[in-house]
Amino acid sequence: MLTECKQPFLLSTKNRSVRAPMECASDGIAQQSCRGQIRPRVKITVGTRYLVAGGAMIRNNLIYIVTFVLTIFNGCQSTVPEFNSDRAFGFLEQQCDFGPRNPGSTGYYQCRDFLIGELQANADTVIQQHFQLTDPISGEEYQLTNLIGRFNPAAAKRLLLGAHWDTRPWADHDPDVTRRMEPILGANDGASGVAVLLELVRLMKLKPPPIGVEIVFFDGEDLGQSGDPRSYARGSLAFASDLPIPKPDEAIIIDMIGDADLSIPVERYSMQQNPTLVRELWGLARELDLPAFENRVANSIFDDHIPLWEQAQIPAVDLIDFFYPNRYMNFWHTHQDLPQNCSPVSLGQVGTLLTYYIYKDSG
Ligand SMILES: [Zn+2]
Repeated sequence: MLTECKQPFLLSTKNRSVRAPMECASDGIAQQSCRGQIRPRVKITVGTRYLVAGGAMIRNNLIYIVTFVLTIFNGCQSTVPEFNSDRAFGFLEQQCDFGPRNPGSTGYYQCRDFLIGELQANADTVIQQHFQLTDPISGEEYQLTNLIGRFNPAAAKRLLLGAHWDTRPWADHDPDVTRRMEPILGANDGASGVAVLLELVRLMKLKPPPIGVEIVFFDGEDLGQSGDPRSYARGSLAFASDLPIPKPDEAIIIDMIGDADLSIPVERYSMQQNPTLVRELWGLARELDLPAFENRVANSIFDDHIPLWEQAQIPAVDLIDFFYPNRYMNFWHTHQDLPQNCSPVSLGQVGTLLTYYIYKDSG
């Protein structure tokens, strides 16, 4: 994540009494909107006693009920696949195992090849978009790469899902001033959004989405300079200035969504750029009982959603946590941006929301 404009308009209002049960139930989220349909399973138990008592009519009715319940249950299951939070967290750890992924580093090239491999194994089409960027401090010139994986590209409606895969070359907010020129690991700021998208990539291979989905791993998001927001988000700028795919109808960017203490209010520019999508996403989060999504408009931030709108008029929304871990401490752009400060439950909340959004119209 970028920028200095992190001062809140409203303070975070996390409700831990709501959060706790949600965390316990994270892996069952995928079935929550089906609760009403699953409930008839109770009738199987009741019917079994009747069956023991005998009677062809009752037996036939029981078979009918069981068939009915299984049909609905299987239909419910097949409509929206389950987002696997633990597998997503594995993708987060896998990226961090490469080390920092700032441009020019060993980890950067290893991670780039890993992401290309994942997209090539699962997407219908993979595109690499190269662009040049100069390191503002060293003056070194980098060739950077946006990675695009296309799913169901012929669909009438197409959604872009994006996250930045590069990590910041400096820990400029670390309390230890002697380590501020060292690159961060970027478990949350980089790996978290990519991890959720990698799990979605896997799901969409298993069950092709009913809409077109363009997965974009943006490069060059986090080489910006403090006080100059437009020095960030250079991969999305390159992408939106010269679209390598037909223009998507809408976009959702995810950034900093791995925080173990996750809180996602509505980002202010997102509300301006696509209020319809904001209402739909936060409404869906409420239906799915995802407590990280807060019904309030908070900070404005210059993230990858801004160039998408400014350069290509793609109405984009940013899902982002402004306080990592909370408003009393800061791990953002520090050496505390580590996997142990992230959580599969947090990835699961965002991943579940996106899974439902993608598959909500599937039969
Ligand atoms: Zn950042």
